[in-house]
Amino acid sequence: MICPICHKKEATKIVTRKFSGAHVSGQVCDDCLNVALNLDKEGFFYTFISQPDKACRNCGRKLSEIENTLLVGCKMCYREFGLELKPMINRLQGINTDEN
Ligand SMILES: [Zn+2]
Ligand SMILES: [Zn+2]
Repeated sequence: MICPICHKKEATKIVTRKFSGAHVSGQVCDDCLNVALNLDKEGFFYTFISQPDKACRNCGRKLSEIENTLLVGCKMCYREFGLELKPMINRLQGINTDEN
């Protein structure tokens, strides 16, 4: 998956924090590992790092599936996952975008 903090690099590091007695973990990239470890805002961590898998409201394809396969389910996926897909769009195959 793509790092939820910078949206640029592949999230390869697992980071686990303890908030209010509960462990929360998520994945971030190398560069953002220190950022994630030093976040003092619980809300930020929950929102950006441990957010549940997003799914396209049109075809139901999950973001994690797109990230794994580099294939979108439908054209709506581009709208649903615009931010997340941006770094991957060059690698995506199968559907042409009409963007410009
Ligand atoms: Zn990052
Ligand atoms: Zn879709």
